Amino acid sequence: SVALVWFRNDLRLADNPALQAALRAGLAPVPVYVHAPEEEGEWPPGAASDAWRQRSLMALDADLRARGSRLHLYRGPSLDTLQAVAAATGAEAVFWNRRYEPAVEQRDARIGRALRAQGLRAESCNGSLLFEPWELATVAGDPYRVFTPFWRAALARWRPQACVAAPATLAVPAAGDAMPPPGVALEALGLAPARGWDRGFWDHGRPGEAGAQAALVRFGTDALAGYPLARDRPDLPGSSRLSAHLHFGEIAPWRVVHVLAQAEGAAAAALPAFVRQLGWREFAHHVLHHFPHTPQRNFNPRFDAFRWAEPAARLLRAWQRGRTGIPIVDAGLRELWATGWMHNRVRMLVASLLSKHLRVHWLHGARWFWDTLVDADLANNTLGWQWVAGTGVDAAPYFRVFNPVLQARRFDPQGAYIARWVPELAALPAALRHEPWRDPAATAGRYPRPIVDLAAGRAAALAAYAEGGVRG
Ligand code: FAD
Repeated sequence: SVALVWFRNDLRLADNPALQAALRAGLAPVPVYVHAPEEEGEWPPGAASDAWRQRSLMALDADLRARGSRLHLYRGPSLDTLQAVAAATGAEAVFWNRRYEPAVEQRDARIGRALRAQGLRAESCNGSLLFEPWELATVAGDPYRVFTPFWRAALARWRPQACVAAPATLAVPAAGDAMPPPGVALEALGLAPARGWDRGFWDHGRPGEAGAQAALVRFGTDALAGYPLARDRPDLPGSSRLSAHLHFGEIAPWRVVHVLAQAEGAAAAALPAFVRQLGWREFAHHVLHHFPHTPQRNFNPRFDAFRWAEPAARLLRAWQRGRTGIPIVDAGLRELWATGWMHNRVRMLVASLLSKHLRVHWLHGARWFWDTLVDADLANNTLGWQWVAGTGVDAAPYFRVFNPVLQARRFDPQGAYIARWVPELAALPAALRHEPWRDPAATAGRYPRPIVDLAAGRAAALAAYAEGGVRG
């Protein structure tokens, strides 16, 4: 007998609780993927994310075929599809790993009820988090709104999850069982970009389970020991670049911790700083679960009265294209466009320039990231944007405005990152790369003048903040 394993953002075979549940029940797993972006509410996956997903699905299918199975691909609606495949195969059960985006959570709950109502065993598992978003609460039973106590509580409760290797073979349904109905070819889903704008993405990350494991090994060997200092340096390969792998579930976070915990010496000493960042991912899911309106609306309603710059179109376009005239910001936005990823420190700086100096509503920036990041993740992106804009939980206070020149001098001291992504500035000495407007002749009109005067932009942001009744 058969169980459907409904793959979603858990595109791996090791440490996959839904797959393990099918095997434990003695049922032959039929791996199914249903393409139904219209079921994801206001946040259907963006273009860069789709480009990654296409390759990740291809890798998963290859991994399944190497074990005698394959991925069955369908177009939605999800419920109708699962019911049709279950009926055709005579499946007894459907297993899947949970997703936590509010619209998807509601859809999955509906699907679970409908499948159970027709007598199927329908079960979801936790395949992507160290802690369920509802597991931790303050002493008063409330959700956490501040990271540090959240993480303290998480560490106190930590029980290492066991790692489970990918099954060596996967039995296909026996000859007597009916076969799944024909699906669609991966190419027919239209996930891959037509015009090849993702060309530059694949030098920096290889979608799929093997790519995730390779990134983890590289990080553990080359970068973990230096992580506490280098993680803030966009000019160095100091962070793990695991974000898209984690988002698509190509690796389980508990395996990441387990593998890195084998480290010794300086790398072992650096581990807590890294695991704390995984903690921010956990916190973001906790916040999204308890405050499901935050992808669209300010967590702090006092900002609902804030006077954002309108119309924002001209400013937003210059920002999106990396033509603000502020070098570190332009470098970040061009890195994003070219590679589908941006360094965390620079994400903060570009978000700060947009939401503070330019006073463009953070949601415009969040939507751009959503469409252009290969690691676009509703929990992390929402938390990141609301944190920088000062509207979120545990947010940087609004009046603390990053100075992108000081930040660039500190975290990209030679301007090497700027030179890499803004070639117009590569020939300038380091100090001028940070502030090319000091010598306009040096760029001879090849690089834009700043779209905003940093001191005036900061003052205007603070004035709008004071005037909007946001205080207190
Ligand atoms: P590492 O430093 O190696 O961290 C390891 C892992 O921890 C990351 O892969 C990620 O899963 C998690 N992590 C690290 N920092 C954070 C953080 N601040 N918040 C939540 N999780 C974190 N991350 C996304 O995965 N998707 C997003 O859409 C996203 N949008 C962001 C938007 C803004 C405005 C900001 C400021 C941050 C955003 N982040 C997002 C968080 C962070 O920038 C990325 O996770 C990180 O840069 C990914 O690179 P890495 O894997 O090398 O990180």
